[in-house]
Amino acid sequence: MNLAKFPRRIYTHGPTPIERLDRLSEALDGPTIYIKRDDTLELTAGGNKTRKLEFLMADALAQGCDTVITIGAPQSNHCRLTLAAAVREGLHCHLILTENEPGQYDPMASGNNLLFELLGVEGIHLAPGGCDVPAELTRVADALRAEGRKPYPIPVGGSTVIGSLGYAACAEEILRQMFEQGIAFDAVYTPTGSAGTHGGLVAGFVANDADLPVVGVSVMRDRASAEEAVYQLARQVGEAVGASHKADHSDVEVLDQYYAPGYGKPNPGMIEAVKLLASLEGILLDPVYTGKAMAGLIDQIRQGRYRKGQKVLFLHTGGSPALYAYKDVFLAR
Ligand SMILES: *Cc1c(COP(=O)(O)O)cnc(C)c1O
Repeated sequence: MNLAKFPRRIYTHGPTPIERLDRLSEALDGPTIYIKRDDTLELTAGGNKTRKLEFLMADALAQGCDTVITIGAPQSNHCRLTLAAAVREGLHCHLILTENEPGQYDPMASGNNLLFELLGVEGIHLAPGGCDVPAELTRVADALRAEGRKPYPIPVGGSTVIGSLGYAACAEEILRQMFEQGIAFDAVYTPTGSAGTHGGLVAGFVANDADLPVVGVSVMRDRASAEEAVYQLARQVGEAVGASHKADHSDVEVLDQYYAPGYGKPNPGMIEAVKLLASLEGILLDPVYTGKAMAGLIDQIRQGRYRKGQKVLFLHTGGSPALYAYKDVFLAR
């Protein structure tokens, strides 16, 4: 696998840290839990989209585009980071925000919405939840083209093959850190949304024959459809990088029992996980992705899936700005 043949903009210098969570591990009395701090990636307030955008923005620049467009929920971290990357590159940025009910997007809301304004978004467009995403991207792209712009549309979560290269690269970064720090992980946990993070990791580990299982915790869809999305991306990334070993169905595992009642909707496991990480480790998770993924890991440990002495790595994909838009959930008792 040779990632150097793909154009890349470098936003983060050096690897993100891997830290051991002693107090959380002790509280759960199970395996030793480590965390990979992708919440400390560069661009505004960090998070996993930064790794994808290193490849996506390089592609946009190579094509001579001057405006990026992307789409996400009103509190989308992906929209915030795409905008931040556009600002960094001197490009314009338009965001399409999907509303589950009319009026869900509140321009005066905190969290990522505040950051859209501070970063100077050029245009915000609204679309109904469940809309035809490619059609919405095309509609805004066509309108910009009519004004003489060269738009670069980025699908939901930046989970194209090019974007997912960022997490194939992260898999190699993790393997190097394991070697240098002398830690052999038994499993890696990640949230699974649009699947580029999970798919890229699987592609990277499989290409390196790492024999390191990745467990994804779905934040929005059932196991079968999430596993299919991860599998397809992992295969396509493997092909794009010319890997001699490509992902198999048996390399893909998604747990789907931790996201109810729905994407972005709080549940007790998420609230417990966010509070535990904050109070035991001083680490902020987020209510939509990492809070639910950590709730999944905690539950798997409580069910006895891992024994003492084993080592599990949790990928912190970022998202903590969204916490400030969920204040009432955490202050309620
Ligand atoms: C987008 C996002 C994810 C999910 O990553 P996918 O590649 O879309 O599966 C996880 N955590 C955070 C904080 C995110 O913003």
